[in-house]
Amino acid sequence: MLEVKDLVVNYGVINAVKKVSFNINEGEIVSLIGANGAGKTTILKTISGLLKPKSGEIVYLGNQIQRQAAPKVVASGISQVPEGRHIFPGLSVMENLQMGAFLNKDKQQVQENYRTVFERFPVLAERKNQDAATLSGGEQQMLAMGRALMANPKLILLDEPSMGLAPIFINEIFSIIKKINENGTTVLLIEQNAKKALSISDRGYVIASGEVKLSGTGAELLANLDVQKAYLGG
Ligand code: ATP
Repeated sequence: MLEVKDLVVNYGVINAVKKVSFNINEGEIVSLIGANGAGKTTILKTISGLLKPKSGEIVYLGNQIQRQAAPKVVASGISQVPEGRHIFPGLSVMENLQMGAFLNKDKQQVQENYRTVFERFPVLAERKNQDAATLSGGEQQMLAMGRALMANPKLILLDEPSMGLAPIFINEIFSIIKKINENGTTVLLIEQNAKKALSISDRGYVIASGEVKLSGTGAELLANLDVQKAYLGG
């Protein structure tokens, strides 16, 4: 479904991503794990069209998208849930969700999407008229995911969905990610919580200093001693 080939991304003179290659098959959950500053967010932003690579290719459903503008990438079926959620404060939960559907001209489908999102996240239905800024961290994460789902993505990019959440919400977020995947959306997941991420992933890639150091199935990486030492707390 998505193939990243020899991707190089720079910020001025800083070489953040150094010839990274990986792929995602339709229906999979794939995780990128690695320390702070490894280049994971940069990779995600380049896929979603927010950054342009210096070189390399991103092939999505047979088309090169590495030079496409972000709205076009969203329209083609890739939605990103950014790190830190970036919900719109001052707007209600409903209005935030509406933002996710701004490219969708099919009103009936948009109404259906609201129903699906409210089914998946009942707490958002309870709070649909509430200012999004007054939601808890976990609820804001759900809103950010719901907003991305409003665009009917084929592939959803999740940047640190468990960051800053209480343990009870962390488990809930991971089980929601699994359900979103079971309903047919392919998932690319970036996580500091490598253990949880790998345990729900079909495959994973370890990113360090802007490079892929290791790859394997979720189970293989969980069992790998180097991965355990570096990313799973021994
Ligand atoms: P984290 O988990 O902390 O978000 P990450 O793996 O997602 O880490 P990136 O955010 O992709 O890492 O950062 C990769 C490298 O690029 C880091 O060295 C970072 O300091 C640098 N970097 C990121 N954004 C910028 C920017 N806007 N300008 C300059 N350097 C940047």
